[in-house]
Amino acid sequence: MFKNIRHRLLLSYLLILALILGIFSLGIRLIFAYNLRQQLIEKLTALGQGAAANTEWEHNQLKIDDDFKLRELLNNQQSLQWFDVKGNSILKQGEFISSLPLSPDDLVQIKPGNPNIQSITLPIIDSDISQLIGYVRVSQSLEELEETLTKLDWGLGISIIVALSISGIGGILLTNQAMKPIEESFQRLKQFTADASHELRNPLMVIDSNVAVSLKYSEGMRKTDQESFEAIASATEQMINLTEDLLILARSDQINLIKKETVNLVIILEKLVKLYQPKIEAKKLNFKLKLSETIWMSGDSLKLERLFSNLIDNAIYYTSESGVIEIQGKQKKSSIEIQIKDTGIGISAENLERIFERFWRADTSRSYWNGGSGLGLAIVKAIVKHHGGTITVTSQLGIGSCFTISLPIN
Ligand code: ADP
Repeated sequence: MFKNIRHRLLLSYLLILALILGIFSLGIRLIFAYNLRQQLIEKLTALGQGAAANTEWEHNQLKIDDDFKLRELLNNQQSLQWFDVKGNSILKQGEFISSLPLSPDDLVQIKPGNPNIQSITLPIIDSDISQLIGYVRVSQSLEELEETLTKLDWGLGISIIVALSISGIGGILLTNQAMKPIEESFQRLKQFTADASHELRNPLMVIDSNVAVSLKYSEGMRKTDQESFEAIASATEQMINLTEDLLILARSDQINLIKKETVNLVIILEKLVKLYQPKIEAKKLNFKLKLSETIWMSGDSLKLERLFSNLIDNAIYYTSESGVIEIQGKQKKSSIEIQIKDTGIGISAENLERIFERFWRADTSRSYWNGGSGLGLAIVKAIVKHHGGTITVTSQLGIGSCFTISLPIN
């Protein structure tokens, strides 16, 4: 149980940390990419402005000043294109030319490709005649920028993994430390329950035997006194059952208390059915027992008897008169499977998750006085678990329930 809590704690802690680091890295990545792109746009704009300033309108033609050293300005990732006012390409210079048509409304463009090309288009205004004489478009391959971003992604990814690994180790140490006192106090509580149940058993036995003797020789006793003794006897029996249930649960984690012997479940189940025969007859139930000839397994016969008696007792209690109860059992290769089906009141889907909790009862009509403590299924689950098996339930309200127990043979 504590192992499970520890794992869940650690997992939630790491998930939250991963989420925080993820959001943080995403923020860094977005800001960094935005700044790099802004820097590039500023650089291209400056280049475009230089090119536009060195372009003139001469003899109805765009002319670039001779002293504008274009080749020196462009690096091998950049290019320049001149367009006339209609958008016709007039001159190109450089390798990474954007093939997108000129669009005066969309001056900052990215042409997708391999590599992607970022381009900025600037209008060329002749200062003498104050007129638009064409456009200049500066482009640059985004390869370098994307490489820088990929390096950043790797850096951030590796940092997150390293941070999570270090936090995971720290988290294991911290959760161990935090769980230790809780585990210790839980063990003390369990020990106290076991001791108290054990200590209560003797005085309860004394009361039980004395009341039994008094009731045996009740001739001459006043009717009211006899009724009081009967009430004491019934209450004592419930208390004995309850202390026994608590003792079983308190010791349920001590696997070494499980005896390993070779058990034939057919004998146990047939014995239990005989024991419950008066109750079965009283409710006129149709009880079917379908078992293989023998079902051998290694386990604790007393505990297995308790497991199946709790399930049969519930099936009988929660099934109304003339209902059907069916027990099926078969031996498989390495496990055995027992099913206990009834046509009783059933369990709603939301209650199904809770029926194995201690002291939890969907049907509060069954109290200590008629055999229900709410510990029955918790005990069943503990016994199944300590035999290395599993228990599953399917149920429908008003239709019935089916408990399936699977236990390993060894
Ligand atoms: P109880 O001692 O009250 O029967 P259990 O631990 O044995 O406690 O069962 C817990 C709850 O599960 C019961 O209160 C009942 O609501 C439900 N339950 C158990 N078995 C059945 C069944 N065969 N049919 C319907 N409800 C059941």
